[in-house]
Amino acid sequence: MIYYKTAEEIVLMREACLLVGKAHAAAASLLKPGMTTMQVNDIVEQFILDNGGKPSFKNYHGFPAATCISMNEAVVHGFPGEHVLKEGDIISLDIGIFKNGFHGDSAYTYAIGEVPEEIKRLLSVTKQSLYLGIAKAVAGNRVGDISNAIQEFTEKKHGYGVVREMVGHGLGRNLHEDPQVPNYGKKGSGPKLKPGMVIAIEPMINMGVKEIIHLNDGWTVLTKDRKPSAHFEHDVHITKGDPDILTSFEEIEFAEKNNPNLTWSYF
Ligand code: MG
Ligand code: MG
Repeated sequence: MIYYKTAEEIVLMREACLLVGKAHAAAASLLKPGMTTMQVNDIVEQFILDNGGKPSFKNYHGFPAATCISMNEAVVHGFPGEHVLKEGDIISLDIGIFKNGFHGDSAYTYAIGEVPEEIKRLLSVTKQSLYLGIAKAVAGNRVGDISNAIQEFTEKKHGYGVVREMVGHGLGRNLHEDPQVPNYGKKGSGPKLKPGMVIAIEPMINMGVKEIIHLNDGWTVLTKDRKPSAHFEHDVHITKGDPDILTSFEEIEFAEKNNPNLTWSYF
């Protein structure tokens, strides 16, 4: 079921979505080698609670933490623990916040210290693909137009693997609503985009093969070939005009540029 949001609901939802970027920035300004992933999680969780939100992911279908933290070859749905960040790691942080009766959901992949050129390229291409997908997120287009833009750029142009099993999604009062928003597909296919829809667009792009495996911790998804994977996610409100991005990377990128322990994933 697709739930269309009123203008008043978008105001409330935007506030939840913008808080997600601020929670990211709180962590991004502090990321450094030697931190554990649980410390990263705790910074984010405390920030969410201090700002009147609730972590959307905690206990969602039994998920054990406030954030999803997926390192290196982990694609998504990793959870924090005693793993220590080190130079050369990439860490995908996915944050969901419930506030004002609505969820915001945004992911960003950070590079700790210096990372190899091929990893910088993976991050840059994945992030670019998100914006190429967003550019198609306007009323009158179909979901497949978004999917196709992401796949063409990442898979056809750059030879990366596009994860098939996990996809973007509608969101609002529920963390996951219809429609599904795959990162692969045909132009002109799938549900029609209409004003008032809000969708999370979230390319999950593997440096190597597209296949994944599930770790026996019940959650973490890894690349089958154990090569790195990147993940960036925005929540986008469909209008008759330009795509309205409810989340923001502005504060994240500011923190990333100003933290000497991070490599900026600019493009
Ligand atoms: Mg999502
Ligand atoms: Mg997410």
